[in-house]
Amino acid sequence: MKGASRPVFFYHDLYGRSLHPEARFPRERYWMVREAWDGRGLSRRAQLQTPEPATAAALLLAHDDDWVRRFLEGGLTDAEVRRIGFRPWTPFFVERTLTIMGGTLGALQALHAGAPVAGNLAGGTHHAFRAHGEGYCVFNDLALAARMAQANFGWRRVLILDLDVHQGNGTAALFAHDPDVYTVSVHGARNYPFRKQVSDHDVELPDGATDADLMRVLDRHLETWLLQSRPDVVFYQAGVDSLQGDRLGRLAHTRDGLQARNRRVYEAVQQWGCPLLVTMGGGYGVDIRTSVEAHVDVYQQAIDAFGR
Ligand SMILES: [Zn+2]
Repeated sequence: MKGASRPVFFYHDLYGRSLHPEARFPRERYWMVREAWDGRGLSRRAQLQTPEPATAAALLLAHDDDWVRRFLEGGLTDAEVRRIGFRPWTPFFVERTLTIMGGTLGALQALHAGAPVAGNLAGGTHHAFRAHGEGYCVFNDLALAARMAQANFGWRRVLILDLDVHQGNGTAALFAHDPDVYTVSVHGARNYPFRKQVSDHDVELPDGATDADLMRVLDRHLETWLLQSRPDVVFYQAGVDSLQGDRLGRLAHTRDGLQARNRRVYEAVQQWGCPLLVTMGGGYGVDIRTSVEAHVDVYQQAIDAFGR
């Protein structure tokens, strides 16, 4: 396979456009990120590709087949739909979900083909469990990518570094008994999910935690996480919902602080020397433009750090 020399990212209009305008979710952030992508000149520096929807076979790498089948066939119960949270449902929602999964799997394939860094302008759906979805997540793209990395690419050891303000509970549960996939979650102690799962390493931040609090955690643990997991590939769930002013965050990180976070992560992964896959994660600013800026920072900094 011909190696990609430029960073590769995945985007589809379905990410945002397929959601109902009345859903309590900032669907516009997806197309605003896409617009900012061009605005910052990233289209010249990275390939932006259209994902293929994930197949049912790919979903079964990490999910229960009854769950997969009932979702695809429109057979979820009201309670299951409520738990996922995107309401009203739309006819495009199944295709959206598959396309987002496909974006992350496409990014993984791009890495395998030699892209210096790759990612999805969505994804990081870390609240999805083996047989149920919750918190805006139906299937877990990080888990699918981990299983595909192992099955198809011989990347056996995976570090999932989840810095979204919410615990990666689905991811933690999915890999609770897997010594090859090391799960890290740094999240708000008093935030959703209120019943936490156990990751390989959880770090809880108090309400109002600052940039300095976050950097202290990374300074103390980041290299250790890499040394303990010895990953063949790293997945970064780069949620920006810890920003001050996020509707769901409760923390007080600044844009500068999150930029410092990203830089720290990218430097550490570069030092370790394995491929990096970046997913979007949460971002629900009262002023959604603040979240969008921080999301695009994540990608732009990845291109700055790894692009060549
Ligand atoms: Zn979140």
